[in-house]
Amino acid sequence: MSIWNNLQAGRAPEVASGVGLPGRWIAQPHRTANLDDLELPARDLLPGFDVPSARRAVGSGRATAAFLSRGCPYSCTFCAAPLSSGRKVRRLSPHRVTDEIRSFRQLEIEQVIFYDDCLFIRSAQLNTRILEFCEALSNAEWTGTFQLELRCDAVNAMSESALQALQSVGCRQVNMGIEKGHLAQLKQFRKRLLPEQARDSVDRLVSTGIRAAGTFIVGGAGETMEDIDQTIKFACSLNLDFAHFNPLAVYPGTQLFSETFGHAAEWLPLCLDDKISPMGDILWRSADMPLSAILDSVAQGYRDFYTTARLSGALARAPRSERAELTESYEVLAVRRPHSWDTPSRALNTDGSCGVAG
Ligand code: SF4
Repeated sequence: MSIWNNLQAGRAPEVASGVGLPGRWIAQPHRTANLDDLELPARDLLPGFDVPSARRAVGSGRATAAFLSRGCPYSCTFCAAPLSSGRKVRRLSPHRVTDEIRSFRQLEIEQVIFYDDCLFIRSAQLNTRILEFCEALSNAEWTGTFQLELRCDAVNAMSESALQALQSVGCRQVNMGIEKGHLAQLKQFRKRLLPEQARDSVDRLVSTGIRAAGTFIVGGAGETMEDIDQTIKFACSLNLDFAHFNPLAVYPGTQLFSETFGHAAEWLPLCLDDKISPMGDILWRSADMPLSAILDSVAQGYRDFYTTARLSGALARAPRSERAELTESYEVLAVRRPHSWDTPSRALNTDGSCGVAG
């Protein structure tokens, strides 16, 4: 809004808090302290706001994305979330959550993906916050279903009654960043997660009737092809309904960026270099691990995970109303997703010699 207001008043956009231009001004993050001060998003003004994602759909019907909080107190080396939204978690008040969810009802939205990084984290207030959220959602008298992004340790730390309450107010899926199947790589990323914790959280969700989805990262300093195979095998061994495999992206401002390029590296030329950022993000690779091998492994992960046996298991757990979308999602992920990294630029990266340090 401040950018818009500045432009309307004839001022340059860089006058606005939180806005900078390369080489001219170092922007300070703009963070609204009290999220209740933000207007309700006018979702109806966004074209296609209600089209469900084939990768993330829970069922048929209108869908949307939403955030009820900002911030993450963790320090995973590859992640830019604490940088962009701050380390302190700020949340909408329960009253404002009710207002936002009531707006879903008015727009006839049936599914929501809450993309908050840390709406609920492992803490002394975890169960209280979950029960407050469930009450706020019930007060809105909305009857749709939703997905949450959660850390595995938060899932494991919830009381049984808090988890049941989430399920009973429409939580159909929890998406978790599991990242790796081996401890050394998890430690290197400062993920503060053990593979066994990931397994426990998946089992807990599935036994509560909530679908479990995990994301996995391929690539990283010191990672061998055997390590990558171990992560794919680990993903396939979990009782997950969905898995997403991604090449390691190196976001400016992260610890991973400094480790890879050095503290003084300019990020903009790297982001604009088709060889280094063939699909918009800087993709990690090293002299020992070419990008082509990473992308092949990503495709392999999708092929290994999305089997007919896994689809049968997921269908057996799903209500009848979700089965058609579930089958379609599996088809997209098994057949089309492995080819989503096939771009002309990929040919440029077969020898790992694009200047990205290992
Ligand atoms: S990966 Fe998740 S827990 Fe780690 S810093 Fe990012 S948002 Fe926080």
